[in-house]
Amino acid sequence: MDRKLIEKLKKHEVSFHEIDKMLDSGAAIELRRAAISDVAGIQFKHIDKFSFDVENVTKRNIENMIGAVQVPLGVAGPLRVNGEYANGDYYIPLATTEGALVASADRGCSAITACGGANARLFKDGMTRAPVFRTNDIIGAKKLVDWVHANFPRIKEKADKTSRFGRLLAIEPFVAGRNVYLRFAYDTSDAMGMNMVTIATDAAVDLVLSENDVELIALSGNMCTDKKPAAINVIMGRGKTVSADVFLSREIILGKLKTTPEKMAEVNYRKNLLGSARAGSLGFNAHAANIAAALFIACGQDAAHVVEASYAITTMELVEDGLYCSVTLPSLPVGTVGGGTGIGAQQECLCMLGVAGAGEPPGTNAKKLAEITSVAILAGEISLVAALSARHLAKAHATLGR
Ligand code: NAP
Repeated sequence: MDRKLIEKLKKHEVSFHEIDKMLDSGAAIELRRAAISDVAGIQFKHIDKFSFDVENVTKRNIENMIGAVQVPLGVAGPLRVNGEYANGDYYIPLATTEGALVASADRGCSAITACGGANARLFKDGMTRAPVFRTNDIIGAKKLVDWVHANFPRIKEKADKTSRFGRLLAIEPFVAGRNVYLRFAYDTSDAMGMNMVTIATDAAVDLVLSENDVELIALSGNMCTDKKPAAINVIMGRGKTVSADVFLSREIILGKLKTTPEKMAEVNYRKNLLGSARAGSLGFNAHAANIAAALFIACGQDAAHVVEASYAITTMELVEDGLYCSVTLPSLPVGTVGGGTGIGAQQECLCMLGVAGAGEPPGTNAKKLAEITSVAILAGEISLVAALSARHLAKAHATLGR
């Protein structure tokens, strides 16, 4: 190893990214790691172990790479999904360090599958980007909004030219004084779509600026709203809007979940609905983010989008001899191409679900992943609500040693 270069890295005479131009990817990774090892006084025994394609990963997924962090991977299932895109029994890959999470999800999967599976349906599909423009005054703001409505086909033509798959669906304008936010929504096929919509919107903005006396302040004006809790996503949707539901029989609830439909319905009402309302929460669920985070990490999704998944609304209603359970995710950004979906381990997890890569026809793999995710989240909701209603939560964590 080049000790002189390591010393230069430590003294900041050469920056971490500059050595990518001097060495091949593998050597650059080793050198950065050696410099950090010296500075921190640590002998790395774990972060130097990985099997993915370094060339691809350093090109697409990471800068200043020094290694990899391993996350334990578990499986829950089989989970029966009766969707329009996902139909069958699935083993759900969950990457987590949270003990008891996989066991809980597995119990929910078992209850759902024993009752014939859960339905899943997509209601909306549109990834968003919302640039903010400054106009002279509200008269200028109104002019811009009118221009956008009148010129939608031209804007769409400009945006759609940037991708073989991204298609502009709508532009929703919002005004705050002389500030105009144009919320662009796109069908991004099998991609989660954030890069695609950013590139397409940037092209569309060129047309807006060339024909209007307005200034672009930022390509994202936070009304998208990406990776922040926001009511607009809950109401208008972002990414996939998807629901799942199942009728659980009293017998299965008594036998597998060790509780009653009545107790579960009451916990759901007083916790997920009333408690969340009293807390001013944007999500009315027990722990949708838990399942979403583990599945996102396993399947190479953008982990920051767990915040959108957390808006889920869970309902549980008593029906004759059982319980009707549903979950609705107004904003679930998922994809099967792009981002982290092509990395070795993550792609293997997508393969387990039969959704790796582009769908045939395009878009069907991402929709299938959204349906499976919604049912996995429903399984998590059922299991946790059951555990709380039977006062099993603390006991289960104690038994599993945490
Ligand atoms: P991407 O990797 O940027 O784009 C997807 C690519 O796959 C496009 O080049 C597309 O072709 C191609 N493609 C091939 N088959 C496709 C199919 N069936 N459906 C859709 N696309 C297909 O992926 P992305 O989902 O747009 O972006 C994901 C990344 O964005 C993540 O890494 C995330 O962290 C990051 N991100 C970016 C921003 C941002 O503002 N830029 C914000 C948040 C997150 P075309 O070239 O023809 O379109």
